[in-house]
Amino acid sequence: MFNFLKKNKAENHNIFLKNTYTNKEEEFKPIKDGEVSMYHCGPTVYAKAHIGNMRAYVFADLLGRLFRYNGYKTKQVINITDVGHLVSDEDEGEDKVEKSAKETGKTAKEITEGFTELFMEDIEKLNIEKDNVIFPKATDYIEEQIELIKILEEKGVTYQTSDGVYYDTSKFPEYGVLGNVIVEQQKAGARVEENEEKKNKTDFALWKFSPKDQKRQQEWDSPWGVGFPGWHLECSVMSEKILGKKFDIHTGGIDHIQIHHNNEIAQSQKAYGEVQANYWIHHNHILVDNQKMSKSDGTVFYLSDLEEKRIDPIIYRYWLLTSHYSTLSNFTWEALIATESAYKKLVGTFKGVDEGKVHDEYLAEALKHLNNDLDTPQAIAVIWKMLKDDKISKEDQYATILEIDKVLGLKIAKMSQKDDDSDIPADILEKAEKRQEMRKSGDYEGADRLRDELKEAGFEVLDKGDEFEVRKI
Ligand code: AMP
Ligand code: ZN
Repeated sequence: MFNFLKKNKAENHNIFLKNTYTNKEEEFKPIKDGEVSMYHCGPTVYAKAHIGNMRAYVFADLLGRLFRYNGYKTKQVINITDVGHLVSDEDEGEDKVEKSAKETGKTAKEITEGFTELFMEDIEKLNIEKDNVIFPKATDYIEEQIELIKILEEKGVTYQTSDGVYYDTSKFPEYGVLGNVIVEQQKAGARVEENEEKKNKTDFALWKFSPKDQKRQQEWDSPWGVGFPGWHLECSVMSEKILGKKFDIHTGGIDHIQIHHNNEIAQSQKAYGEVQANYWIHHNHILVDNQKMSKSDGTVFYLSDLEEKRIDPIIYRYWLLTSHYSTLSNFTWEALIATESAYKKLVGTFKGVDEGKVHDEYLAEALKHLNNDLDTPQAIAVIWKMLKDDKISKEDQYATILEIDKVLGLKIAKMSQKDDDSDIPADILEKAEKRQEMRKSGDYEGADRLRDELKEAGFEVLDKGDEFEVRKI
C-alpha cells in the first residue's frame, strides 16, 4: 500500500492546497512539470519583524520544503519592501521607512539595511532555508515599476491627482475577486475619504509625488514627477521579472487579501492579460493573549524576547507547526514553555541514538498529512504516535523522524546531539526544585540563597513562568 514511497523523490505525489482565489481545496498542478514557482510577500524593513510576521516566512519555508521533498524543483521569492509602504495600506499617511528614519535620526538606507540584516538573522534562527530563496529589493526595481505604470497608462486605467498617479479600479471589472471582496459593500460602508481626489474608494496609488515642501530621502524622477512607487506595484513587477507573467503560488497574510493582493491582481492582470498566480494561499494571524499584537499594550514580541528568556527560536517554529497555518493562533508564554518541554522530550529521546531504517508506513502517514494542505499538527501527532509504538526500535523511530523533519525543519538531528538537562547532576536539580518551591511559597530570600549556591557550583537557574530551567554556566 505504501510502496509508492520507495520511489520517493523521483516521482511527484499529490499535494492539496486551499486556494483563496477559488475558495476551494485543490490538487496542485504545476505550470511546468516537476517545477514550482512561488512568490511570498515579504517584510517591510522599517522595524524589527515580530513573531507574528515570522509565520509568513516559516510558512513559505514549509511550502518550499514540502515541494522539494515531493521531488519538485522550487523557485521562491520573498520581496524586501524598502520603500513605498505607507502607514495605512490604503496609501495614506507617511512612508514607514521615512518615518522610522526621522524618529531615529538614521538615514533611510541605514534603516532598511539594518532591518534587512536583522530579518535575515531571524529567519536563519527559524531554520528557514534562505539559500533556496531570492530576496529582491523594491528600490532595485524602480525603472521596471515606472515601466509598469506606463503600460497601465496605455491601457487607460490610470489618472493623476495632485499627490500622485492612481489606478482607476472602476475600469477593472474583476476588481475584488480574490477573497470575494465585495466592492459595492465596501463603498457603502466607506468612511469619509481622506483623499477626495480619488474617484473610487478602492483606487490606489501607483506613483506618489514627493511632498512639495520637503525632500524625501528616497525619491526618483518619473514621467509624472519626482516621487516614489506605490507599495502594491513592487510585487507585480518583481514577480513578473523573476518568475514570469504566470507562476504557481502567491502567498501572504490574510490581511493582504482585501487590498494588497487585489491591487496586485488589478495591476498584473490588466498589464499582462491574466491573473499572475494559479494558487493564492494566506496564513492566518498570531494573537498575543487573544488580542492583536499592540506595542502600547506590550504584546508585541520578537525572537529576541525568546532569546532573552533563553528559549531557542526553533521552539517557536515548533509552536507554530502545532497549529495549522490557517488557524488564528493565540501565543502565550505558557504555551511556548509547554512546547519547549515537548521539544526537549522529543530530542532528548534520541540522544546518542544511531539512525536506523525509515519506517515507511509512519513516514507515509506523516507525508499524507503534510501533502494535505500542510497539516503540520497532524504530522506532529504521527511522530508522537510512533514514539509510543514499542514495536519500532528507537533507531528506526529516529530515522523516520529525521525524514519527516526534512519538511518540518525542526533541527531534530542537530538538537538531539546537543547537551541538555540530562547532564545536570541530580543534587543540583534537586536544589533548583527546592528553590522553586521556596519561590512559590514567597520565600524569596531562601530562593535567592539557593540561587547563589547553585551559581557557585557552576549552574544558573532560569525562571520561565511557573517552570524553571537549569544550565551550566
Ligand atoms: P509587513 O512587514 O508588515 O509587510 O508584514 C509582513 C507579513 O507579516 C505579511 O505577510 C503580513 O500579512 C504578516 N503579518 C502581520 N501581522 C501578523 C500577525 N499578527 N500574525 C501573522 N502574520 C502577520
Ligand atoms: Zn506583495
